[in-house]
Amino acid sequence: MIIDKSDLIRAMEFVQEVEKQVTSKDKALILAEATKKALNQLSQLNIPITPSRFKVWFFAFLILILKGVFNPSEDDILKAYLLTFNEMKGKKDFSPLEIEKSIISKEAEETLDMSRMALQEAISIVEKHIKQLAERESSLNVIKTMEELSKTIELLTQEIRALQKTNMELKEELNKSVRKMEVLKERLKALQEKSQKDPLTNLLNRAKFEILLEKYLKDLKNGKIKVFSIAMLDIDNFKKLNDLFGHMVGDEFLRRCAGVMIGELRSNDLAFRYGGEEFAIIISEARLKEAIVVCERLRRKIEEIRITTEMGVAKTTVSIGIAEAKNDDTVRSIVDRADKALYLAKRDGKNCIRTEEDVRLRKF
Ligand code: GH3
Ligand code: MG
Ligand code: MG
Repeated sequence: MIIDKSDLIRAMEFVQEVEKQVTSKDKALILAEATKKALNQLSQLNIPITPSRFKVWFFAFLILILKGVFNPSEDDILKAYLLTFNEMKGKKDFSPLEIEKSIISKEAEETLDMSRMALQEAISIVEKHIKQLAERESSLNVIKTMEELSKTIELLTQEIRALQKTNMELKEELNKSVRKMEVLKERLKALQEKSQKDPLTNLLNRAKFEILLEKYLKDLKNGKIKVFSIAMLDIDNFKKLNDLFGHMVGDEFLRRCAGVMIGELRSNDLAFRYGGEEFAIIISEARLKEAIVVCERLRRKIEEIRITTEMGVAKTTVSIGIAEAKNDDTVRSIVDRADKALYLAKRDGKNCIRTEEDVRLRKF
């Protein structure tokens, strides 16, 4: 479609005609339709509405309507817009390139839902206004001059802005809620982690040991993992250490033991505080033989711990019992075998390692 300056002149004459009150209700409705379309377009493009911008878009749509085009293509809108823009330029608060880009890339369609809501409401206001115009016999009195039309538009613009503001506030509220949810989620996560950790040593606790051990046993049964072992560690003569140096020193010894485990174990092994002065370890990919090597390293490092106090140097040793996981094991059955091995280590004089194999051999 060809759109040229003569179309704009025709549109301007049309408005002047309305201003001179020598026109009909139908013509007033045409102005209202152009107003609606212009506001709609500005909202869709998501750019601030200003009187000068409105005027350009108003005349662009008026040109199209006067040419009988009520549902213009984007190409036609662009042509009409560029014509009115070029003819009315001088007001530098908008750039045709930017708007051209917006139309072509259909950025308007990417407007947020919130903006869409604002747009919907804006349109309904415009529609209400148009309906009112149509209903009134003397509708022309309402917009008899361009000045009055501008006033009406100013009012509509204000209403649209107010709506947009409300929606911005709604959006802000929503964002606030999202942020709040995130904080709560973080807190919940921290709490969950806390409930799985022993506060004194910062190791995972017994509850977590049982959960993870169960998972390991399931993985073994399913063939996800081939082999693993567990070890139960119990500090030797800990009561005596407490009695001699006090609970604070005892606590420090427990923390130092945890430090040894964290430092000595491989990244896929797991250490837990099982209770009081007992620890549990899940040793990944290890048969008894490999588990012994890992535990021997721990035993020796714990033996080397020294805590200097006013009453002298606090030190003690650890006894360890090891069991290798079987396909039909339960948490109870494997812990029971490791415990029996630990008991044998204690009976054999403490500060040593015994395995379920040692327990079996001893029985015969
Ligand atoms: P054994 O060599 O046979 O294991 O003897 P033990 O003294 O280590 O074992 P016993 O079960 O007789 O005593 C364990 C002691 O561990 C008693 C308890 O006061 C102490 N204990 C348990 N939990 C803590 C703790 O969190 N901090 C401190 N300081 N002591 C603890
Ligand atoms: Mg004990
Ligand atoms: Mg003990």
